[in-house]
Amino acid sequence: MLETNNEEVKKAYLVCPYDRNVNSEYQSTELRLLAESDFYEIVKINIFQPRELNARTYFGIGKAEEIKQEIKDLGVTTVILDAKVSGSQLRNLSEIFEAETIDRTMLILDIFAGRAKSKEGKLQVELAKLKYSLPRLSYLGLKQEKMQGKGAGESLRDLSKRKIQDDILKLEKEIKVIQKNRDVQRKQRSFYAKSVALVGYTNAGKSSLMNVLSKAGTYADDRLFATLDVLTKKIWDSGTEYVLTDTVGFVSNLPHELMYAFSATLDETLDSNVLLLVVDSSDEHKYEQIDVVLKEIRRLNITDDRIILVYNKIDKICQEDRDNLKEYPFTTCKISAKKQINLDLLKKEILNKLNS
Ligand code: GDP
Ligand code: MG
Repeated sequence: MLETNNEEVKKAYLVCPYDRNVNSEYQSTELRLLAESDFYEIVKINIFQPRELNARTYFGIGKAEEIKQEIKDLGVTTVILDAKVSGSQLRNLSEIFEAETIDRTMLILDIFAGRAKSKEGKLQVELAKLKYSLPRLSYLGLKQEKMQGKGAGESLRDLSKRKIQDDILKLEKEIKVIQKNRDVQRKQRSFYAKSVALVGYTNAGKSSLMNVLSKAGTYADDRLFATLDVLTKKIWDSGTEYVLTDTVGFVSNLPHELMYAFSATLDETLDSNVLLLVVDSSDEHKYEQIDVVLKEIRRLNITDDRIILVYNKIDKICQEDRDNLKEYPFTTCKISAKKQINLDLLKKEILNKLNS
């Protein structure tokens, strides 16, 4: 046996049918990062503006046939489609492509499923999956059948909507119980200690920062969603004790079906005394990202005086760019978690806020 690695190479072809008001560079880069974090090897990113929208196949048949040919030539295993398509459009496209075809939401769900660690995280992902599958039963059944040989999809297709709806209710109940316990734990925590939460986009360096602040081995990794679940560390610094919480990263246009799974982790930030909004200073979309996170933070009624904007990865930009980083009406720190630059400054600001 030559094959020692039982993980197959998954080759993905990204189909990005964007209309003209979409920032195609940004969107497609994010999709690529997402796919890579789900262990796909990307063989092609096809960005185009559909000339016509087709009810059966979303974009034109001609385009679909063209893609099919490339898929064959490139040995693609999975087509990932960055568009809001219906279950039947997805099915029709996969029949044309003769390859597994998934959309962005299914990709994110797959990543969530692979990374969820806590009981609540897992249940939330399971719930999101069921809710997503409900209107897509026929397609998913078909897909399963194709993947596992004829007949294997039957069980999935035979699951009545009623059964899935029952499962959804059961899961929701179970999650409520867990959340209640979490609330109790949280109250106990906030009774003992002050709290600081890390928020921001995936890959900004939240886990790395948690690592250096707590000097404990939090998982830090270049893939997105390295932590779906809330991670918490207790920290003592110059006589002040606080709890530091890492949250799952933001993604642009998170499908609303996944919002609860995502918010489950973010709710924790509600009762944090201080929020560290971490940004990758070298990311060209950092200001858009700050805006999105701020919007979400304000939805949770968190006031500006509790925010510290952390411009991370300043080791990746030149001095002039460091000086020109946009100012906001709250405390700002320019640091590098990796190169340990200005960490003392940040620690001081955290203590200032906690003790004010
Ligand atoms: P998270 O998704 O926000 O938790 O981000 P991670 O902490 O997992 O970091 C994502 C990637 O950025 C990892 O490869 C880190 O090594 C890298 N990284 C984090 N902080 C810095 C930094 O200050 N400078 C540089 N150059 N890389 C960093
Ligand atoms: Mg992380």
